[in-house]
Amino acid sequence: MLAHRLIERKRDGGRLEPGEWRALALAYASGHVPDYQMAAFLMAVYWRGMDRSETAALTEAMLGSGSRLDLSHLAVPRIDKHSTGGVGDKVSLILAPLVASLGIAVPMMSGRSLGHTGGTLDKLESIPGFRTSLSLAEARAQIERLGCALIGQSGEIAPVDRKMYALRDATATVESIPLIASSIMSKKLAEGLTGLVLDIKRGSGAFLPELARGLELAELMVGLGADHGCPTVALITAMDRPLGRAVGNALEVEEAIHTLKGEGPADLLEVTYALGAEMLVLGGVAASHDAARRSMERAISSGAAAERFAEIIEAQGGNPGVVEDPAVLPQADACELFVAPRRGLVARIEPRAIGRGLTALGGGRTKVDDRVEPSVGFVITARVGDWVEAGEPLATIFARDASGVEAGRAALRGAITIGDEAELPLPLVSHRVTATGVQPYGRDGSEPVDGPGPIVGDR
Ligand code: URA
Repeated sequence: MLAHRLIERKRDGGRLEPGEWRALALAYASGHVPDYQMAAFLMAVYWRGMDRSETAALTEAMLGSGSRLDLSHLAVPRIDKHSTGGVGDKVSLILAPLVASLGIAVPMMSGRSLGHTGGTLDKLESIPGFRTSLSLAEARAQIERLGCALIGQSGEIAPVDRKMYALRDATATVESIPLIASSIMSKKLAEGLTGLVLDIKRGSGAFLPELARGLELAELMVGLGADHGCPTVALITAMDRPLGRAVGNALEVEEAIHTLKGEGPADLLEVTYALGAEMLVLGGVAASHDAARRSMERAISSGAAAERFAEIIEAQGGNPGVVEDPAVLPQADACELFVAPRRGLVARIEPRAIGRGLTALGGGRTKVDDRVEPSVGFVITARVGDWVEAGEPLATIFARDASGVEAGRAALRGAITIGDEAELPLPLVSHRVTATGVQPYGRDGSEPVDGPGPIVGDR
């Protein structure tokens, strides 16, 4: 029997041929290989690994299991960005309309929150009426018109990956670099892209906290992109603290809107510009990263990027008035300031604890089918390295009720450390990975300083 022999071979450290990966994927899709055999096989892969050609073969098999978004008739470049996920990472909400307003088609397929990390689909769905479940035909028509669609993985795209990822989530086999690389790239390559930019997070709030593992994943995915004629660039970015100030679905949409209007936190804007510059240069729309940055600054200051976001929201059934007035987003019933318990330096803001705190408030998921509460979360105004006095506000908790506020307080007490010395934060962007190898990131990557601007939830 096919599956039994393949499990045995992988368990003993052997390798599968491309035809065997194909046959296994098809047999799993059709139900001829049951979940229990696939779970055993995935655990064998987790321990024994896969070589480069096996990873390519699995990517190909998953990609071939579904439809592709055919955008080849468009005259413009088609570029997407994918992030390995983190806490407060609302970059996609800003980047997609921003880059689309500059002549790149962005067929952005995103995921939901799971564990401590947030998900773009949940954030978008906090906008009243917003629909993320477009068919491929609807997405295609919207991209032709507006240069962007913000969608989830439908059953049409890489269905084997969809089934296998759910099984991996339930069997503790997600954290395998070749499985992650083939899973992500099979979906991205189905988008019919002419280029792809990856945001690989590192630090304690990242999926793969260690730099070496992040670089390994980046190099593998960049290579898989090149195999398919899709030039791929990866940036390694910091997730040792939340990105921006807002953590929580509606709060993050509000912060993204402020950022699209030029009033966002500096760290969020910096990561957005770094990734956007890669997209614009890959697409041939800008000659250099500096030129790309200037174009993005203009798209923000002219209002073109925010206007494009409103158009996309309207096209997907959402209330475009949210861009003018974020107060149309769901509002939490209970709000409370969280203050410094003592004077000292903000030594650490632990993203994983913040992400878990969001789940405790009802704003995240521990299981794929959990419902998320859009209004809850945190706005953390303190920054690592700030000097604070006892009683000074560090954050605001947004909750459903008093018990949620208490859960939020407990989470922040565990997450924010006030001490006598602050840890040196990781550079916001530290490395750039292309088909030619790994380089330190060109700009200095240090923490930019916030200018004046509104604070989310400060109503
Ligand atoms: N995201 C995916 O889509 N797949 C993985 O394997 C991990 C993260």
